Amino acid sequence: MFATLSDRLTSTFKNLRSRGRLSEADIDATVREIRRALLDADVAVPVVREFAAAVRERALSVEVSGALNPAQQVVKIVNEELVAILGGEGQRGLALAKNPPTVIMLAGLQGAGKTTLAGKLALHLKEKGHTPLLVAADLQRPNAVTQLKVVGERAGAPVYAPHSGVAGEDEVPTGDPVAVARAGVETARSREHDVVIIDTAGRLGVDAELMAQARDIRDATQPDEVLFVIDAMIGQDAVATANAFAEGVDFTGVVLSKLDGDARGGAALSVARVTGRPILFASTGEKLTDFEAFHPDRMASRILD
Ligand code: GDP
Repeated sequence: MFATLSDRLTSTFKNLRSRGRLSEADIDATVREIRRALLDADVAVPVVREFAAAVRERALSVEVSGALNPAQQVVKIVNEELVAILGGEGQRGLALAKNPPTVIMLAGLQGAGKTTLAGKLALHLKEKGHTPLLVAADLQRPNAVTQLKVVGERAGAPVYAPHSGVAGEDEVPTGDPVAVARAGVETARSREHDVVIIDTAGRLGVDAELMAQARDIRDATQPDEVLFVIDAMIGQDAVATANAFAEGVDFTGVVLSKLDGDARGGAALSVARVTGRPILFASTGEKLTDFEAFHPDRMASRILD
């Protein structure tokens, strides 16, 4: 991901490097190129506008003195502004509850990568010494419970699911996802799992019923984190989708999935700024180990490399 954006920005800076002192016209031409590259990468229009204005303003006031030449200073400014739109310095980790279990709820469109993420998170937490329980509250898709059991097995984490429960004991007598989620958290508490990860249903598009159900699950389980999972390849739809979930379930953090894809990735560059919520993790493949903490500065350096 970002290969094209990265190439475009690099060649813009190369043109700049052949010049010495930068005129206002040089800076305007450069900012124009950057703006086009970002728009072509599907970055949301308001984010591009804000980014370009910030770079222009700072580039115009660059001093000639100092260790960096003017072109290098512009690159530094672009880097800093990229870090800012990706969420800024000092990323936080998962918020863990003082009184376990920590409840983590996953929300997002169908196919965004929630179920896969549940397995990835479980593995990540197990490696840190936690004892996660997965809860199958996606009762919409016929295959979702089975799929969660598969990832749970791969991660070595038990799955609480309707009509089966942990180790076949905890029969949940209802197909109501809110009841399943609530019972899952209770099971975690009684069995001393210190983290519960609740997988929820996603639809193909944002709809009111889906949002109401996600909100009911949230209200019933009082999560410490509501993670909004977004497919980094969804392009310009990203902003509307992210805003709908921000309003609908008031998520606390974002997970970008499918960052390994070859799409343009503008969603990844827009969602933190548009929603004001931090990106906590990135998913980079189908394997449970294709998962990393998200660092805005590392992502910015990767784009500008
Ligand atoms: P859900 O509907 O939100 O639960 O999404 P799933 O977890 O079922 O994922 C949908 C599809 O995307 C599955 O085929 C996953 O294997 C795939 N997938 C999930 N995360 C990633 C990722 O980071 N990279 C790639 N390439 N595929 C992923």
